Amino acid sequence: MSGTTVTAIQKAGVVGAGGGGFPSHIKAAASADVVLANGAECEPLMRADSELMALDPARVIRGLSLIRDSVGAARAVVAVKKKNVRAMDAIAEALPDDGGIELLPLSNIYPAGDEFLLVFEATGRVVPEGGIPPDVGVVVNNVTTLVQVADAVEGRPVTDRMVSVQGEVATPGTFVAPIGTSIDELIEVAGGARTPEHAVIVGGPMMGHLMEAGGQPTTKTVAGVIVLPVDHPLVSSMSASEAQVLRIARAACCQCMACTELCPRALLGHDLEPHRTIRAIQYAEFPEDHRHITSAYLCCECGMCELFACPLGIQPRRILADLKAELVRRGVPNPHVRTDLSPDDVREYRQIPAARLTRRLGLEEYDVDAPLREERLQPARVTLLMNQHVGEPAAPAVEAGQEVLTGDVVGEAAEESIGARVHASISGVIQSVTAEAVVIAAASGDRGTAEHGGSSR
Ligand code: SF4
Ligand code: SF4
Repeated sequence: MSGTTVTAIQKAGVVGAGGGGFPSHIKAAASADVVLANGAECEPLMRADSELMALDPARVIRGLSLIRDSVGAARAVVAVKKKNVRAMDAIAEALPDDGGIELLPLSNIYPAGDEFLLVFEATGRVVPEGGIPPDVGVVVNNVTTLVQVADAVEGRPVTDRMVSVQGEVATPGTFVAPIGTSIDELIEVAGGARTPEHAVIVGGPMMGHLMEAGGQPTTKTVAGVIVLPVDHPLVSSMSASEAQVLRIARAACCQCMACTELCPRALLGHDLEPHRTIRAIQYAEFPEDHRHITSAYLCCECGMCELFACPLGIQPRRILADLKAELVRRGVPNPHVRTDLSPDDVREYRQIPAARLTRRLGLEEYDVDAPLREERLQPARVTLLMNQHVGEPAAPAVEAGQEVLTGDVVGEAAEESIGARVHASISGVIQSVTAEAVVIAAASGDRGTAEHGGSSR
C-alpha cells in the first residue's frame, strides 16, 4: 500500500502546496510516528487553505489517512487556527468516529504554520538545527497538498489549485485556477485592481515576493496574491535593492536585539541571532566561517525580524536570505547541527498575534473574507514553469504544435533526482517549449475542460 501511494503521488506531480514545493512522494516514503496536516494558514490575508478545508474537509482527512498509512504513523493530527471557525467546524465534522485523527486548534499567532513550530505545538519535539521534521519522527503536509494526495491515489494529477486574491481589487475572492494561469488574469477575475499604480505580492505579505515585471503565472505553490498601491510600505520594503538593504543595516542598526528576541527559530533554541549577523556584515567581504554568518542556514525567512520586530526598518531576513544563497554558491556546508535544543522559557510570551501583525503591516483594511468561487477558471493560455518545486527542474516532454489533454505529462522529472512532474492544466495545443516553460493555448470552443485526469482543485 505504502509503495503504491508513493508511486501515485510521484506520478501525479504533488509537491508542498503551502509554498515549500518539496516533492511529496519523498515525504510519503519516510518513516514517522506522527503525521500533521498543516491548516494553519498563518500569513495575513491568505484564505485558500481555509476555503478548501471548509469546502472539502473529507478530502483533507482522506489525504492525511493515506500519508499516515504510508509512513506507518500511529498518530494523525489536523492543525487549524481557532479563528477559522468554518474550516475548524468542517474538519471536526469530518473526523472519523474511531478517534484515529485529532484536531489541534491553534492560536492566531504568526508564524503558527512554520513546520518547526507546528511540530513543537503538536508533539513537544524540537526539530534539530539544519534538520527536518522526519528527524524527530514527524511528517508535515499542507492541507492543499493532502487533497492533491487523495486525488493522486485516484489517478488525478495536480492541474489546479485554489488561489486567493486580496488587497486593492474590486471583489476579493478565492478561485480554482488551472496551474499556469496568468496572475494578471486572476486579478481581472477578482474585479481588477482598484488603483492603476499598483504592485502585486505573490504569496503572503511576510514570505511572498513582488511579481516580476511583465507578469507571472501561478504555480503549484502560489496560494494567494495581494494587490497593493505601489507606494505601500510593504511594497517599498520588498523593492529595496540588496545594496540599499546592506547600507541601511550597516548605518542604522542600534543592536537593540528586538529581532533576536522575537525570532521564532531562536525562541525554539536554534543558534540564530539576527542582531549579531547584522554586526558581522559590517565589511564588504564576509568571513564565511563566522558563526553568525553561517547561522543564515537556520533562518526560515519568516520575516518577523524585519516586518514586525525592527523599529528602524532594517531587513535581517533579506540579509540572511542573501547570505544563505551566497554560502550555498560558495559550497560552504551548514556547520549548525545541534540536536539537544531547549525552547526559551519566554517563548510563549513573545508570540505575536496575527491581528497585531496585520496592523503593523498596514494591511488591516484588506483583511476581509475572500469567498470561494467554485467555478473553475478557463484561461485562454497557461504557462507551466518547469521549475515550480524544490530540486531539479522538470524536462519538457512535449513539442510545439502537439495537442494535449488536461492531465497529460508536459514536463518529466529526471530519474533518480529530487524533482516533480508537470502536467497540462488545460487541453489545447502546445504553443511554445523552452527549458523554463511550456505554454499551452486552450483548444478553441473547449477552453480548459477536463477531459481526463485533472484534479478539481
Ligand atoms: S526571518 Fe528573521 S525572525 Fe524569521 S527565522 Fe529568520 S532571523 Fe528569525
Ligand atoms: S531590531 Fe533592527 S535595530 Fe534592533 S538589532 Fe535588530 S536589526 Fe538592529
